[in-house]
Amino acid sequence: MTASDARPGMLVQAEREAVTAALLQATGHLAQGQDAEAILRPFCEALVAASSHIRLAWMWLGTPDTTIIRPTYAVGPAREYAQALVLGADQATRPLSPGLRALATGRPVMATVRSDPAFAPWRDEALRHGLEVTASFPFGEAGDGKQGVVAVYADEADYFARLGWGPFVAFQHLAQVALTQAALRERLNIIATFDSLTGLLNRGAMQDALERVHGEARRRHETYGVLLLDIDRFKLINDGYGHGVGDAVIRGMARILEGSLRPGDRAGRWGGEEFLCLLPGADQATATAIAERLRADIMHHPFVASGGRIMYATASLGVACFPADGGSVQALLNHADMGLYEAKRDGRNRVARASDRGRSLFATAQQLEAALTSGRVRPAYQPIVALSDGRIMAKEALARIVTAQGVLEAEHFIEAADRFQWLHRLDHDMICQVIEHCAAVRKAQGMPTAYFVNVSTDLLHHAERVQDLLERITRTTMPCCTDADTEKPLVIEITEGQFLGDFDAVRRTLAPFLSFGIRLALDDFGNGYSSIRYLTELPFAFVKLDKTLVNRVQTVQGRRILRGLQDLARDLGFRTIAEGVEDEACADALAALGVDWAQGHYFASPRFEDAPEALGKSPDDAAS
Ligand code: C2E
Ligand code: CA
Ligand code: CA
Repeated sequence: MTASDARPGMLVQAEREAVTAALLQATGHLAQGQDAEAILRPFCEALVAASSHIRLAWMWLGTPDTTIIRPTYAVGPAREYAQALVLGADQATRPLSPGLRALATGRPVMATVRSDPAFAPWRDEALRHGLEVTASFPFGEAGDGKQGVVAVYADEADYFARLGWGPFVAFQHLAQVALTQAALRERLNIIATFDSLTGLLNRGAMQDALERVHGEARRRHETYGVLLLDIDRFKLINDGYGHGVGDAVIRGMARILEGSLRPGDRAGRWGGEEFLCLLPGADQATATAIAERLRADIMHHPFVASGGRIMYATASLGVACFPADGGSVQALLNHADMGLYEAKRDGRNRVARASDRGRSLFATAQQLEAALTSGRVRPAYQPIVALSDGRIMAKEALARIVTAQGVLEAEHFIEAADRFQWLHRLDHDMICQVIEHCAAVRKAQGMPTAYFVNVSTDLLHHAERVQDLLERITRTTMPCCTDADTEKPLVIEITEGQFLGDFDAVRRTLAPFLSFGIRLALDDFGNGYSSIRYLTELPFAFVKLDKTLVNRVQTVQGRRILRGLQDLARDLGFRTIAEGVEDEACADALAALGVDWAQGHYFASPRFEDAPEALGKSPDDAAS
């Protein structure tokens, strides 16, 4: 239909409405575009679809300094015309070109084919395609510092003049909004993907890359390797040379990794001074060889410290391979982490794959985690008796995992819990159960015996868990601990290992418990360093003599040490508790030395205690 067919006013009105409706309908597509290309293409398509008068729309995307424009995409019945089109090729006519003019001014530019000088070289070709007029729309902020132009052509010289710019400019604005949003998304994505210090992929992006490589390897039955790398003694570098040097070392490591890995391998910053490398296609031997090469490259790389001083850093690496070392991404990461731990433990600056021992520790830690999550960690209680008359004075709560196959004792999972930093969860879980049990016993039977609980450094480092326990003890959940009682029926056992860091910190953490009337016991004394100093660092009420020491009571020397300790304890005002007493002779010898209390298989083994009847719980637990 042409304008001369009917009353022109009506027709223009109808055409404008149709074009507006079509363009409006297309705006949804624009918003979905992830990048400039995916926004401007549907923009062109929508224009061509909006009216049969629009015979061609093309787009171009490029940098602002561009002097030549070649359409990168064209649609419409006359799209052939765009194929050979080059704008600005001729320097003399360049400033006249509508597309370049639109870019330069930032506004739409209209040009008629027959009269506009810019069309001189193209005029015949344009007319042959039925193109009488063109309008060029500029776009800025298209991401990556790009800008763009969309040119649209109609078959009537006065088409845009009659219809007016309105619908086209509105559509252009909407496309520009979509472009700006896509550019913002792209920038956010970069921030979210790359580590700002090193420019390597960050942890989240590495995790994604790992999942992708893993899926691929599974489908194709291929291997791949992961390396977990940690800079040795980084804290010393950071504290000794300053954060500036610390950052420079981290950046330097990133460059070494990038330079040393094969194309297709990826490196990312996994955490503070930890890096993860992903080696698609690598088997164990290859992954280990690459790890060794990285280790050597790092060792020989000079870093410049303050004052131009040269320093060297080393790194430890853990290696894991799919599928040999694990069938899931998490299992592989744990395996690599275990290898890294062993590399550090064995002296640093080395590459390690987790040993069988490491693997079994990991399996145990998983078992513990599952048990904690499903409430299958339970306290077993071992009586502590007075050596003078055999009366039960207290009980020690010892952790057990209850499985369908039986009961697992703490000695089988404590090391794994420690290694994988789950002791705080274990301790918290156990102490909560002991508090409840203690409260129930008190309710049913009056004053309960004292319960000794084991507390790890890991728990003391988790302030929120410590705070929660304090609240439980001092408020509602432990009614047995009322302020009226001076000695509360809960005793915290800590070992000398807890002091390795900072005496003051331990003292500060425990202070509110002590002022509430919770007493302290020093566990495992006589095993390890056992400095007398530990005895005076905190107000201990009890010293527990380790079973290795207790078992030497039958020897002259052992007896001398125990007698000395007993005298010391009496002078300092502690009660002594002998651990691991297994026979009558041992018990008698300890009693003769004046040791106060004792525990051990001779008196009773640890057992589950049913909740008191008053609570109405079913006694479903067997003894361990
Ligand atoms: P521990 O605190 O020195 O606990 C005493 C250990 O000796 C217990 O082993 C107990 O079952 C065992 N035992 C008791 N009587 C005898 C005996 O007559 N002879 C011998 N040889 N052993 C005896 P268990 O329960 O396997 O616990 C091992 C260690 O695990 C504990 O040593 C303690 O350090 C730790 N542990 C246990 N439960 C917890 C807990 O809830 N939290 C923390 N952090 N550690 C715990
Ligand atoms: Ca203990
Ligand atoms: Ca002990």
